[in-house]
Order: sequence, then C-alpha cells, then structure tokens
Amino acid sequence: MMMRARRRNRGAPRAACGYLRQECATLARALLLGTSHMTTLLFSHPACLEHDPGPHHPESAARLRAVLAALDDPEFAGLERREAPEAALDDLLRVHSRRHVERTLGAVPRFGHVGIDADTILSPASGSAALRSAGAVAAAVDAIVAKEADNAFCAVRPPGHHAEPERAMGFCLLNNAAIGALRAREVHGLARAAVIDFDVHHGNGTQAAFETDGSLFYASTHQSPLYPGTGAADETGVGNIVNVPLRPMSGSAPFRLAMTERILPALDAFRPNLVVVSAGFDGHRSDPLAQLLLDEQDYAWVTDKLLEIAARHAEGRLVATLEGGYDLTALGASVAAHVRALMSV
Ligand SMILES: [Zn+2]
Repeated sequence: MMMRARRRNRGAPRAACGYLRQECATLARALLLGTSHMTTLLFSHPACLEHDPGPHHPESAARLRAVLAALDDPEFAGLERREAPEAALDDLLRVHSRRHVERTLGAVPRFGHVGIDADTILSPASGSAALRSAGAVAAAVDAIVAKEADNAFCAVRPPGHHAEPERAMGFCLLNNAAIGALRAREVHGLARAAVIDFDVHHGNGTQAAFETDGSLFYASTHQSPLYPGTGAADETGVGNIVNVPLRPMSGSAPFRLAMTERILPALDAFRPNLVVVSAGFDGHRSDPLAQLLLDEQDYAWVTDKLLEIAARHAEGRLVATLEGGYDLTALGASVAAHVRALMSV
C-alpha cells in the first residue's frame, strides 16, 4: 500500500499530497505500534429497503432505516461502508438445494405480493434484497479473511436464520449466516466455522444446515416456548449444536449465565476459525414479538465476549449479520451498542 501511495505521489497534484502524507503517517504509526489501521466494515444495500412484505408486517423497511439512522451518528463515522454485492449461485447452493433457490426466487412476483407462508411474503424487490443480504455476509467474510478490516456488521433484510436448506419461512428466504460460514470453509479453507445466534427465536434453518457436520458449530439462546418451536436443549446435532432455551420474562442474568456456562465454553472448545453472529435484537425488553427482558448493555456484553473468543482462536475474524428486532427505537439503540463493541477492538 505504501508502494502504491509513493507511485501515486510522484505524479499526484499538490492537493493530494496532504492526504497521502496523512495516509503514510497513519501506516507508519501502525507499523511502529505493531498494529494496522484496520476497522469495522458496514455492509448494506438500498435493495434491502425495497423488500416489502406488505402493510403492518413487523419485518418492515422501517427496521433497516432505524438501523442505518442509528449508525449515521457521528460516533460511527469510522465505519467503512461498503455496498453489498449479490450472492453468487454457488454461495447459495452450499446451504440450499437448487430446488429451494429456484422455487423461492422464481416465486418473486412482478407486481403485488406472493405469500410463501402466512409470515413470509415476497414483493417484486424481494429476490434482489435476499441476494444482497446473502452477498453482504459472503463479501464480509472475504474482506475479513483478507484482513481488510477487523470485523464486519451486515445491515441487511430479509433476515436469514429460519431459512432451511429446503424451505423459506419466518420472514427468511436465504440463510445469510450459514452462507457466509460455508463460504469461509469452502472458498477460504478455514477448517471450523461457528454461528452464534442471540436472536430471541431459534435459528432452525442454521441448525438444519449444520447439524450433521462437525466442522460447523451452531449455538443459540432463544425464548421457549416461541416460534418456530425448535431449539430444545437435547437437539445437539453431532455434538456441534448448543441450544439454551430461556423462559419468557428471562432477563440479563439468565441470558448471561446461558452464555458463560454453556455457549461460550462450548465455542471456546470448538476453536472456531471464524465467528459469524446471527445478531437479532428481538430479545430486547421493548420488543413486541417476544417476552425476554434484555437491553443494549446485554448486547454490548455478549459482543465483547464473542470478540474475545474470535481473538483467541480466529485471529479476530468476526462477521455479524442482522436478524430480528422489531421495536424501532430498541433496535437502533441495540445495533449501536453492538457495533460500538465491534469498533472497540
Ligand atoms: Zn427473531
């Protein structure tokens, strides 16, 4: 990079010199300190705002607008913002069957809405939004593996963790987190990839994609009973699945205990080469779809803990992707707390 800067500098107009001097100074300081000037990436795409499951649907574009507004605060000026590419078909086919991909994307209507089930509704922009959401996580994995940044947050919708290899459901069309994890393993050769899911709902889709493959790990805290009804503690896959159901009205203490007693030790023992976070914020006490009592501090806390394990085993590689979160104020504040923690590396 310094070589490129020097080459550019020879022919650069005077106005560019100040910037180049600053860039070189930053790099020199980083080398001196033994660190780089890496940062947190923020992936999103305008297409994710266009997916419209219909009026009064909780998974609305207003959610993503609230997230992006929260991250527009000057405290997040240091985020490096990138536009999400569309996922490639190969990325999708590592998790989903060709039949699922063709059926789901083929059902996208030219006008109006089409329901896959009572909750999962397609509009004309849904295919593009789903491809950008999966593509965000795939591109974030590429960038983090290439050490272009410390970690990444994907502000995308539709969410993904309910999407099973053969089935779209629960507002989810493609399993964004699983697609990122499998890309890390099969394109970048990382031996072990983990998805940690603190959304209030169980990620049945991610579990279904991972449960027979010991090189993958999935752990979830979620309210039980609650949609989709999976995620019992005795669903353990091939020893690579950890489910910790939480009773309605559980707050910070049981959530943190589930993490410190069950999930974090199991993740530590798995020694992931990449940590993917299914970052759903519908466990917040204000959320209208569930009855857990978490708050922003809990999301900052768990993010710090996951960063510690990523630093220990995965050279810090962590990619988070937005899942649920349906109270707009709580969602904005929770994402801010999560991303603030990511940036504090
Ligand atoms: Zn959820």
